[in-house]
Amino acid sequence: MSAPRRAGVLREEPTIFEVGSRGRVGHSLPPLDVPESDFSTIPEGVRRGPIDGMPEVSEVDVVRHFVRLSRLNYAVDLGLYPLGSCTMKYNPKINEELARVEGLARAHPLQDPETAQGCLRVIWELERSLRQITGMQRFTLQPAAGAHGEMVGILMIRAHHVKSGRPRATILVPDSAHGTNPASAAMAGYKVEQVPTNAKGCIDLAALRAKMTGEVAGLMLTNPNTLGIFEEEIEGIVAAVHEKGGLVYMDGANMNALVGVARPGDMGIDVLHLNLHKTFSTPHGGGGPGSGPVGVSRTLEPYLPAPLVEESSGRMVLNEKRPDSIGRVSSFFGNFGMHVRALAYIRSLGADGLRLVAERAVLNANYIRAKLKDLYPVAFETPSLHETILSDRLLEEKGVRTLDVAKRLLDYGFHPPTIYFPLVVHGAIMIEPTETEPKAELDAFITAMRTIAHEASTDPDLVRGAPHTTPVGRLDEAEAARRPRLRYKPERDRAAS
Ligand SMILES: *Cc1c(COP(=O)(O)O)cnc(C)c1O
Repeated sequence: MSAPRRAGVLREEPTIFEVGSRGRVGHSLPPLDVPESDFSTIPEGVRRGPIDGMPEVSEVDVVRHFVRLSRLNYAVDLGLYPLGSCTMKYNPKINEELARVEGLARAHPLQDPETAQGCLRVIWELERSLRQITGMQRFTLQPAAGAHGEMVGILMIRAHHVKSGRPRATILVPDSAHGTNPASAAMAGYKVEQVPTNAKGCIDLAALRAKMTGEVAGLMLTNPNTLGIFEEEIEGIVAAVHEKGGLVYMDGANMNALVGVARPGDMGIDVLHLNLHKTFSTPHGGGGPGSGPVGVSRTLEPYLPAPLVEESSGRMVLNEKRPDSIGRVSSFFGNFGMHVRALAYIRSLGADGLRLVAERAVLNANYIRAKLKDLYPVAFETPSLHETILSDRLLEEKGVRTLDVAKRLLDYGFHPPTIYFPLVVHGAIMIEPTETEPKAELDAFITAMRTIAHEASTDPDLVRGAPHTTPVGRLDEAEAARRPRLRYKPERDRAAS
């Protein structure tokens, strides 16, 4: 038995199979008012036997079990979630309310479009808003995530080159890129070549020019890049790629720094994905459902996935007549619930509100940077936008590393930032506070980070052994990654296996 606990204190929660006891139930059925069926009439082969090992629990067991589990979770509704590159902002509840409006929540994807005019209009209006925000020509809302959008974007680049005679062989990707970028290019059949980062933390334009041959299908870049730095030479970069007939893919995961301020379409970008679950405040749902709309320039418009939702004489229609389309990339319309939430967010903020999003996100990140860089030196002196990359350079001599800092933050009640990414920064600590954090919360985080740096000097073992207050301490990471225990096995099976 675990020790008695105070109310509200977290403890290790057993699985539901270990709660309750034999014969315990959480329901009571009225007495049978029909004749009991004669099981012997059912052929033996199809009769279901008793299910061994099913949880036998009361209502209170179930409710307490799941409420306790939910309290082991960290969430944006609890506090700062500084996970860099992920834009973990607070999701306004009005989005949720609108997504639950009956006509939107209960629409069936196979309904005749004539009876789903409102839903189709939501998709159309969202597309129009995204076009205005980004300056792109048209969007598909089908992709279910950013990575899915990348794949769709690269397939369109490929379709364009095939149409001009040759798919070309290579996609260029900066060395600071998110791992999904090279993965998407490779899945679409391309060879991936890296472009180095220069001393300012930007793409090395001379190196790009040298690599940019007629065999290169395109460049995938992130702007601001994953170091949080705006690619100042974006026009030169785009020109260098276009001169050789290549196309430019922009990973728009960092659009939170640009909304209402600058538009990728105006920078000459050919194709861009957005993450509605980042910039436009739809929930990040543990891997899904997300939404990764892809916007294209005029050049790539013919290749967009079919069908497209369009307006014709005041009615919303599905345009399936797209001969050059790469085809459908998702069943039905993509994750429609996310479209509703994103449109609610965009409309409730308006153009001025969206601009404030970017400005405050940048202000918050720079506030943290200014307050921490004496203890956690910045990787690049170039000013950063909505996220900031610090390092563990000053802690190393005390034997404390970035991972230890991240674990110790758990003891102070914060979700850790993204760590060891981007790969080009040694011991990277990537912090993205987003615009929704009040100064008090930023200050509490800064205090925790400064306290940890102090502890690294006075009591490094305390930091190295963290976390100390969570139900589970430090895991063996290699073992956890190589041999994850994904399925619960009752004790007796475990003993047998
Ligand atoms: C999150 C992210 C992606 C991938 O998006 P998902 O929606 O998680 O698939 C790609 N690039 C960058 C820079 C990101 O931050």
